[in-house]
Amino acid sequence: WRKAIVEGLLGADLVGFQVAGAAQNFIRLSRQLLGAKTSKDTVRAEDGRIVGARAYPISIDTASFRELAEQPEVAEAAKQLRSDLGNPKKIFLGVDRLDYTKGLRQRVKAFGELFDSGDLDPEECVFIQVATPSRERVDEYRRLRDDIDLMIGRINSHAGRMGNPVVEYRNASYPRAELAAMYRAADVMVVTPLRDGMNLVAKEYLACHGSDDGALVLSEFAGAAEELTQAYLVNPYDTDGMKEQLVRAATDDLATRRKRMRPLRRQVATHTIERWAENLLNDLDEARPRDS
Ligand code: UDP
Repeated sequence: WRKAIVEGLLGADLVGFQVAGAAQNFIRLSRQLLGAKTSKDTVRAEDGRIVGARAYPISIDTASFRELAEQPEVAEAAKQLRSDLGNPKKIFLGVDRLDYTKGLRQRVKAFGELFDSGDLDPEECVFIQVATPSRERVDEYRRLRDDIDLMIGRINSHAGRMGNPVVEYRNASYPRAELAAMYRAADVMVVTPLRDGMNLVAKEYLACHGSDDGALVLSEFAGAAEELTQAYLVNPYDTDGMKEQLVRAATDDLATRRKRMRPLRRQVATHTIERWAENLLNDLDEARPRDS
């Protein structure tokens, strides 16, 4: 189908991608598959139109997330969450659809090994994983759900104490305000997909966390990693490397973490969904054939 897909996309005047590499791939494929004439960021379609292909990394409504997280009820809920968990020193948080692309098996395995070895102290650390149900009628997704249930059950039966599991797992979907409270409470946000176009959860954490006293562990295979280069970057296939970064994110001193968090939070404060829409619409306006 690849030829048909590329031809179909060339029906647009402007094709936006999350990352520059994807736009470049599209341009290269147009040349290779269709023999189209191309330039740095355009393709000449068969009918002679010049089609733009560029990166427009999508973002979030940063201000509305920040305002939500600053509400007194949300701040209170974040405190309550910490206290319900027994006031751990470090809260790790993952928020994902239960999808094989999100790298959950690899992530849970890494946490299991860290709690087993004592590199993360089960008395002091809690890992909250929210996994939103997704495509439950597909066998592959059901198997993933069962695997994660089993893996987390094993970790908790080894490392947790009565009434104090080390992994708080919720196979459920949460409203924004509850997510905002979790983002506020989380000391280390863990976003380790095997592949992700962008990943908005990483950006929502930075908008909501409310201080530079936090940390983001981010897969280099998420589109967001192109912008959020000061995160603790990981390759989720490399369990040992991922474990090292998780421990660093939890144990680096405040000054080191601040140095990373400050530019990350600034990036999300300045590169908002409004800016994304404006860039895309301006370029679309310029790209549109004048006589139509
Ligand atoms: N989300 C939510 N409730 C949940 C879990 C996730 O509303 O319980 C939202 C989250 O705030 C984010 C989106 O779902 O806006 C997930 O987007 P992302 O780009 O991270 O991943 P996708 O699911 O699109 O692959």
